[in-house]
Amino acid sequence: MKSEITFQHPARLRPERLPADFALAFVNTYDPVRAVTDLLANPEHCRVFLSEWCELDWDLDWGKIARRLQLFRDDLRTHLIRFITAEVPLADFTRYLDHKLEHWPWIARPVAEEKSVRMIFVPSPQLKPVQHVEAVVTRGIADLIAELGPERLHQCQSQPCEEIFADHSKSGRQRFCGKRCATRFNVAMFRKRKTS
Ligand SMILES: [Zn+2]
Repeated sequence: MKSEITFQHPARLRPERLPADFALAFVNTYDPVRAVTDLLANPEHCRVFLSEWCELDWDLDWGKIARRLQLFRDDLRTHLIRFITAEVPLADFTRYLDHKLEHWPWIARPVAEEKSVRMIFVPSPQLKPVQHVEAVVTRGIADLIAELGPERLHQCQSQPCEEIFADHSKSGRQRFCGKRCATRFNVAMFRKRKTS
C-alpha cells in the first residue's frame, strides 16, 4: 500500500537518501575549500544542490528559498559547532533542536521492516518546501547524534577546511574529513618544522 503522505511532500527526500546524510551535506553547503564556498549564496547552486537530495516542485522562487535556507544553515552550523567542540552540552543542543522542531507539524507513520514495524516521523505534507527542508535537516542532525553517539561528530582540523563529518573510525579520534585534508595538514606541519 502506497502512503498518501509520502507522495504529497513538497520536498520529499529521494528514495535512496537518508535524513542524516542530507543533514550533513546541508550543513556543509558552506565550505571554504570548495570552488564555490557557499552553495546557498546563489539561487541556481541552491536548486542544483537540493535537487540532488530532494524531489521538488521546480516552479519556486529560488532566490527566496536560498536566502532563507542560508540563514537557517548559518544558525544551525553555529549551534552544531558549539556542540561538537563541547562548548555547549548535549542538553542545551537538544533544547535548540526541540525549539526548531516545534515549529513544524509532524506525522507519525509506521514502516514495515523485515518482520517488524517501526514508527517514523515525517514532516506534515502541509509544509512549504523551505519548512520541509528545515524540518528534515533538523531531524537528520538528531538521527546522526542518536546513531553515532554525541562524540562522533567532528569538524575537520585541516584549515581552511571547516567540514563537519561523522567519525566512523574505531578509535573515534578522526581529525580530518578525508585523505586530501590529512595530506594538506601534514605537508603544512612538515614545512613549519623545516622553517623553524
Ligand atoms: Zn577537511
